[in-house]
Amino acid sequence: MELNYEPKSLKKVTFDVWTKAEILAESVCEVTSSKRTVENGAFTNVENSLRDPRMGPVDRLSVCATCGKKTGECNGHFGHITLTRAVYHIHFLRPVVQWLRAICHNCGEVLLKSIDFPTTKKRVHLMSHIMKTTNVHTKCPKCGIKAPKYAWSKEKQEIVRNNKVYNVTDVQEHLELIPASLLKLLNVVHPIHMILEVLPVPPPTVRPAILMGGTLVRGEDDLTYRLLQILRINQKLKRMIDEARPQHVVKTTRTALQIAISAYIDHKKGVGSSKSKEFSKEYTSLSQRLKSKEGRVRGNLMGKRCDFTARTVITGDDTLKMTEVGIPAKIAEILTVPVRVTDYNKAILTTQLREAKSPIQYLTNPNGDRYDLKFANKFSFELDVGWTVERHLQDGDIVLFNRQPTLHRGSLMAHTAKIAHPSQLTFTMNLSCTPPYNADCKFCFYSFPVFFF
Ligand SMILES: [Zn+2]
Ligand SMILES: [Zn+2]
Repeated sequence: MELNYEPKSLKKVTFDVWTKAEILAESVCEVTSSKRTVENGAFTNVENSLRDPRMGPVDRLSVCATCGKKTGECNGHFGHITLTRAVYHIHFLRPVVQWLRAICHNCGEVLLKSIDFPTTKKRVHLMSHIMKTTNVHTKCPKCGIKAPKYAWSKEKQEIVRNNKVYNVTDVQEHLELIPASLLKLLNVVHPIHMILEVLPVPPPTVRPAILMGGTLVRGEDDLTYRLLQILRINQKLKRMIDEARPQHVVKTTRTALQIAISAYIDHKKGVGSSKSKEFSKEYTSLSQRLKSKEGRVRGNLMGKRCDFTARTVITGDDTLKMTEVGIPAKIAEILTVPVRVTDYNKAILTTQLREAKSPIQYLTNPNGDRYDLKFANKFSFELDVGWTVERHLQDGDIVLFNRQPTLHRGSLMAHTAKIAHPSQLTFTMNLSCTPPYNADCKFCFYSFPVFFF
């Protein structure tokens, strides 16, 4: 892929809740058609369907209607579904309920006794700390009304106030009473954005169809099926409301929509009755894509091989200093360290270069020409200041030693390398260094994969 961006330096990364306005701004099309996206082994190229060409190339031959790029070049563009009725996001129920408790529904007074930030060294979640029950008034100090009890009812799939359904529109109005200054002080997202009014539709690149050979389509991705379910229920609900159907009938469909969206986000989180559980098990969900060992983060992103790293098992060695790490000779010969030639190391490097079994593998001259000594005659070069040599790892080089999971900085520390006997194939370390890495040394030798940069 060709990138024409200027490189930028990142200072920090923050995560936020996608607001309705942001979803709409990002969206390239509204998905309204619940027509099947695949028929007779080919894509049905319908506008406003889940395979709208504006969200990305429909198949290998077509181009993206938004950016004009081909499959593999276009990253895809989000679309959106406008929900007939606002729906709770299953992962954000707790903050929504917490905020309802913290604000008087009658006069909008903040019912928190104090707003102090956690002071303990233990990690405390800011919201849980401020919203803890002992910090919330049970009676409004301004209007004197007794604060009702709010909870999420799994059975009703609604928020209940004193065991009665609290309408989602009322919940939204209630949340609008939160003073902006308080949110700013706490530096948290407005909980109103945690209730979905529009649902972002990920591009087809996120949910590719199952292809058979070339272009014959065998089936759709689980997420596409889930989105189709959501679309159908959403349309049914709209129809029912337009036709002014009886309340209890509308209610059932409303619950179905909530369940379908919850199941799309996370089908393993309590979705309610046994009937709806059946319905939710059929396909996988967004959360399952990311979570767990096989998920995107642990399965695809963490612990991948890259240049200047090696990975093997660790064992204990009491002859090493705490600052050292034993490195197998096999690894040391593959990993190279770029060293700039200076007045100080010129003599040593030249001697190393002339050795019969030279540790130097590559040379780069000041013009940037790189020579591989496997093919070039090493005696034809005269090292000088400004050259760069790439030599094997040797005793005393400083390396980073990491054992996953990298939970804190003690999981990734600098050690000096000590090249081990060629018969040794594991990284070795002083046993006193095991606690920060949380390396298990019950019997003193242990097999844990360790990274080494
Ligand atoms: Zn595109
Ligand atoms: Zn009040």
